[in-house]
Amino acid sequence: MPSNPEPTAPPSAMVVVAHPDDAEFMVAGTVAKWAKQGCEVTYVVITKGDKGSDDPEMTSERLTTIREAEQRAAGAVLGVRNYEFMGYPDGYLQHTLELRRDVTRLIRRHRPHVLLTFDPTNRFFSDNYVNHPDHRVAGDVALDATFPTARDRLTFPELLVDGYQPWKVRQIWLSGAEAPNVWIDISETIELKKKALLKHPSQLDPEVVQFADGWAKETGAAQGIPYAEAFRRFILEEDPISSV
Ligand SMILES: [Zn+2]
Repeated sequence: MPSNPEPTAPPSAMVVVAHPDDAEFMVAGTVAKWAKQGCEVTYVVITKGDKGSDDPEMTSERLTTIREAEQRAAGAVLGVRNYEFMGYPDGYLQHTLELRRDVTRLIRRHRPHVLLTFDPTNRFFSDNYVNHPDHRVAGDVALDATFPTARDRLTFPELLVDGYQPWKVRQIWLSGAEAPNVWIDISETIELKKKALLKHPSQLDPEVVQFADGWAKETGAAQGIPYAEAFRRFILEEDPISSV
């Protein structure tokens, strides 16, 4: 069942994704809504997205530059304030301890109340889309870095030496979950979501706007919401500061 009333914006949120443009599909409407309410949003993009081209003239190096600029332009539409481009190679993502430590460092640096990422358990969405392996790894690593690694002092002690103190993320929100338990009404930000998606011309045709519209309508339909994004939410810590 959906939460009622809808959770309000947290003070801060971190979105962990695999590729530049993932966040626009998954959470753009929610992020824009929260940013308007003063939430400090950080995007963490793990890979460079440097494989996303069929153009024989394109190089991975040039594509990396293009996609980082596209991501910043899309985030600017939504009110995203901070960006972390981790620079891992696209398409090769693996759940290593090195990657988990690197994501943990960013969680401790930005200290988000809410972390949003992929549901790593959802491999098959429909009969025409198999989830990208980088998405599964990104979700898995983000979850593990959030709990328990960012919280525990004795894990990756080198982070302490570098000044990154433990941090308890209050809530995890998973996008693409088979069993969502929170729906965010994005009616007031669906146009910003479309505008942000259009900031990724190296990847997306203008028809992406119709796709985003239809998807948000379909997501909200059963809840009686005109346009929605859905999440599976986990409350790890009750937060006295925020009513998230
Ligand atoms: Zn992706």
